[in-house]
Amino acid sequence: MTHALVTELAPGEGLFVDGRWKAGSTGTFDVEDPATGEVIAAVSDGDAADAVAAADAAARAFPAWSRTAPRQRSEALHRTFELMIADTDRLAAIIALENGKALSDARAEVVYAAEFFRWYAEEAVRGGGSYGPSPAGGTRTIVTRRPVGVAALVTPWNFPAAMATRKIAPALAAGCTVVLKPAAETPLTALAVARVLREAGVPDGVVNVVPTTDAGGVVGAWLAHPRVRKLSFTGSTAVGRLLLRQAADRVVNTSMELGGNAPFVVTDDADVEAAVAGALIAKLRNGGQACTAANRFYVHADVVDEFASAFGAAVEALRVGPASSPETQIGPLISRGAVDGVAALVSAAVDAGAVVSHRAPVPSGGGYYYPPTVLRDVPSGAEILRTEIFGPVAPIVTWTSEEELLSLVNDGEYGLTAYVYSRDLQRALRIAEAVDAGMVGINRGVVSDPAAPFGGVKQSGVGREGAREGLEAFEEIQYLSVDWPL
Ligand code: NAD
Repeated sequence: MTHALVTELAPGEGLFVDGRWKAGSTGTFDVEDPATGEVIAAVSDGDAADAVAAADAAARAFPAWSRTAPRQRSEALHRTFELMIADTDRLAAIIALENGKALSDARAEVVYAAEFFRWYAEEAVRGGGSYGPSPAGGTRTIVTRRPVGVAALVTPWNFPAAMATRKIAPALAAGCTVVLKPAAETPLTALAVARVLREAGVPDGVVNVVPTTDAGGVVGAWLAHPRVRKLSFTGSTAVGRLLLRQAADRVVNTSMELGGNAPFVVTDDADVEAAVAGALIAKLRNGGQACTAANRFYVHADVVDEFASAFGAAVEALRVGPASSPETQIGPLISRGAVDGVAALVSAAVDAGAVVSHRAPVPSGGGYYYPPTVLRDVPSGAEILRTEIFGPVAPIVTWTSEEELLSLVNDGEYGLTAYVYSRDLQRALRIAEAVDAGMVGINRGVVSDPAAPFGGVKQSGVGREGAREGLEAFEEIQYLSVDWPL
């Protein structure tokens, strides 16, 4: 049975290709509400042939869209921003229904997602380029930017709106046309965003959406398609590696936003109350299912008891439940498999000597709940400190010297986000500059901002999204050498 909220999205005809809804070639797949495990919609399942049809549509739409005046593209993006904001409650309800996150988190996501359209509406009209004499004289050098071409976008389930708009908005601003494959857990939000873009007047074929259970088949068909020149992927490092290998065959331009393992550092001179407030956001926004989620807490020995007891008390008081309840602060995880994965990491940590110091209650009955949990005395080699937990568990490690801290923090394959709390800004900056991370929150528990370059170092990714850099990721540079005999 299709949930009343999603009937208008035409999920049974869930492929959005060339401005039209159409049924997939291979039937439908079920989408669940993680709070109950119940099926909320059956969505069309696209295959490789559908993927090719979508890329063909994007290729047909490319010449006109790329030549559309920047001001006109900007206005379409601005209308999309306004329509999304006006529709916040309904879009948030769809996100909460298929992803499970609390309504407050879902509303915040809609606003964050919409802001990419506003930011890139503003950037679309700021064309760059340069013109000047060559050093030897006799020529002029002109440098211009142009859209890279048809872009394939692949997004995860944890921010089903924002991860899509963070790619669609800059791609359209640059003059690219796109094919999007949302995660199979959360296709309804992407379909809702497609509807908004259409309502905003984005021409047919500029944005195409192909939900599927055959991710490899659909994305593989795009990477093999002669007109697809860009892959922008957000997801796990494991899948990112696989796609980088596939993209190599046709030397497709890639942007990779991959996994994280963010350290959250609290120094002995930190404002502990502020650190606890920041930790609650950095760890528990989206129930810990964020690539930026604080994954390991390094707290100085002088303040660890004060921090752990205040943070633990706040964690114990969290209201965990379904998004349908207005009191809920933390929703369920995305799936049974996710709950099992988090439980396995926690029990391995406990076997290695960690202690469960605080835990919030969770609803009994159905739904994929894992209790928000604080772990103390976590040994520095524990697996939970090396693996992306993607759940509401906070392992705390104690440190005493900055040198020891930095070697612990920088040990590992990821380098997406870090957080540092210290009252001494110079010290916080010193630590931040020594951390291998693309983004560092200083005395803040959140770093995401459409106007700032988001992305990681090491195996957390390649390239940046958001800011001017996010637009340039969808552009190529062309240089013209002009004979100029003066
Ligand atoms: P995932 O890698 O399993 O899936 C991401 C997307 O890739 C989905 O659309 C999925 O269907 C698709 N996919 C899976 N296998 C594929 C294949 N063989 N070929 C082509 N596509 C394939 O990740 P997930 O579980 O959906 O999301 C969680 C991960 O995403 C975490 O590691 C998280 O850190 C990361 N993430 C990173 C950022 C960032 O900006 N760096 C943001 C959000 C999430």
